[in-house]
Amino acid sequence: MRLILLGAPGAGKGTQAEMLTELFHIPIISTGNMFRAHLSQGTELGIKAKTYMDEGKLVPDELTIEIVKDRIVKDDCKNGIIFDGFPRTIAQAQALDDLLKELDITLDKVIDVEVPDEEIVTRMSGRTVCSGCGTPYHNQFKIEKVKGSCDNCNSELVQRDDDKEETVKKRLKIYHEQTQPLIDYYNAQGKLVEIDGIGSVSSINLRVKKALGVE
Ligand code: AMP
Repeated sequence: MRLILLGAPGAGKGTQAEMLTELFHIPIISTGNMFRAHLSQGTELGIKAKTYMDEGKLVPDELTIEIVKDRIVKDDCKNGIIFDGFPRTIAQAQALDDLLKELDITLDKVIDVEVPDEEIVTRMSGRTVCSGCGTPYHNQFKIEKVKGSCDNCNSELVQRDDDKEETVKKRLKIYHEQTQPLIDYYNAQGKLVEIDGIGSVSSINLRVKKALGVE
């Protein structure tokens, strides 16, 4: 199973990706998490990416495509991949098509998780992330067992700079301009399934599984 989770920032892609990785035992390629991991290790790439991320802008395509290129050839990607937050531009989608072709891999489905902008802005304010392992949490949809600390590694949960309201609005604008065209791109390939991203995590997960034909 190779699939892409498409949708605005805060649409719940990360949460669904976590559920699908458990179900299918295939890795998540989240470029956002990879940039954050680079940053916490203080790499040059991480420091470069941060300047864009903090402003809610997209990291340039060359950098983004490069880290995916390195990741996709690892052994654990042989049986399947869940792309979360990649691709985000037509150039990235074309680069991914080329990469998959080289590896003789086909993409099964692209799931577009649809959530209106107003709902996204409200949701983001409740979102936190583990400062240690990057696991996402939410004060309504995915509540940690001990307030403020990660269920997996006990590290502190923090609000990302890019989840602040002004930045969220900027990110939504960029999403509409640069990422939304991918809906037509994958529709033309016959791979797109749109699902309603409003509701409980489990009801959305059911829609995702139905879209994948596993429920
Ligand atoms: P995310 O965690 O997926 O919301 O990503 C956080 C930030 O990382 C985004 O706002 C971008 O600045 C950057 N980023 C993540 N994925 C990409 C991508 N595919 N292309 C460009 N920038 C990205």
